[in-house]
Amino acid sequence: MTGSPRRAHKPRRLDALSKDLLAWYDAHRRTLPWRYDPGDTPDPYRVWLSEIMLQQTTVATVIPYFEKFLAEWPTVDALADAPLDDVLLAWAGLGYYARARNLHKCAKVVRDRHGSEFPADEDALRALPGIGPYTAAAIASIAFDLKATPVDGNIERVMARLHRIETPLPDAKKELTQLAVGHTPNARPGDYAQALMDLGATICTPKRPDCGICPCHEHCKAFTAGGAEQLPKKRPKPEKPVRRGTVYWLEWPKGTVLIRRRPEKGLLGGMWEIPSTEWHSAGNGRSHGPEDALGVGIPASIKWAILPMTVKHTFTHFHLELQIVQSIAAGRKKPKGQWVRLEELEKYALPTVMKKVVTQVRADAGPLFAETKKR
Ligand code: SF4
Repeated sequence: MTGSPRRAHKPRRLDALSKDLLAWYDAHRRTLPWRYDPGDTPDPYRVWLSEIMLQQTTVATVIPYFEKFLAEWPTVDALADAPLDDVLLAWAGLGYYARARNLHKCAKVVRDRHGSEFPADEDALRALPGIGPYTAAAIASIAFDLKATPVDGNIERVMARLHRIETPLPDAKKELTQLAVGHTPNARPGDYAQALMDLGATICTPKRPDCGICPCHEHCKAFTAGGAEQLPKKRPKPEKPVRRGTVYWLEWPKGTVLIRRRPEKGLLGGMWEIPSTEWHSAGNGRSHGPEDALGVGIPASIKWAILPMTVKHTFTHFHLELQIVQSIAAGRKKPKGQWVRLEELEKYALPTVMKKVVTQVRADAGPLFAETKKR
């Protein structure tokens, strides 16, 4: 990757840990499409885009999305000018759609209030939509080489092992953050942050830390004492509750299906869905009738057929089980809503759970699919 020369660093003292880590990073850094070679000036747009995409997602998953977004929208202005639906569609499959909405919102704020330049200031970055403390610190350090300390689960794990912290997470969070801040060097903070990220991703992994090749083992208390793989300790997580709902797959004889947009706020906000009832915890006694999913204007005479299989999907905080019921709307007047041809469904940003619904209906060979096959 080419670019103009990076700001010159004043030579400053590094502690032994950061020195060893940076030397290892210079020799073994991962090659990633958003990463810059030493001497190149990072493009904050690319750094920001990669960091937003990487939140709670793996590098391997992110790479094709990152490349697709850059090809489609090479600058923050291009992204800000794009219709939200196009952005949501390009994001589909990456999960956590609120991030895509905030991504778009953030691009607009950067274009309109910051002259299309990301601010070179951690606090100002944190004030932008969708940028929390971790992402602000990551962008500040990687894009602008400012002294900032991004701390996520990987870095907490490395710190817990280096210092052999036995306090379980999340109670240990504050202490681990302070330790990470204490190690951050004045010189090359951006490279140091990426070195720690690489270490956590490739050597100090959750189950099998490869201490024998670790550049930090001379400084690592858990390595000296043994049992590194048992750190960090974690408080047991409460079991995820199960929520249930019903999806109403309504077809029109000419080969279209009814979809609608979810409310802007809340889970999967603004995404398209096959109309569904609210998702409630099991046994709360709430109604799951068609009027809950489809609203008024749906003829009461419609006969619904329950599909044999439910669709299961797990979100961060709960498991979801969706029953699918299916019917064909008859009569002269088409119920109101967005009717789309089956083959055009993929042009709409359906979240993964709704894609599962489509797949399930397809597998159960519903009337619309049967008709589509005949054409
Ligand atoms: Fe992690 Fe082992 Fe390195 Fe310690 S020595 S930081 S436990 S990989």
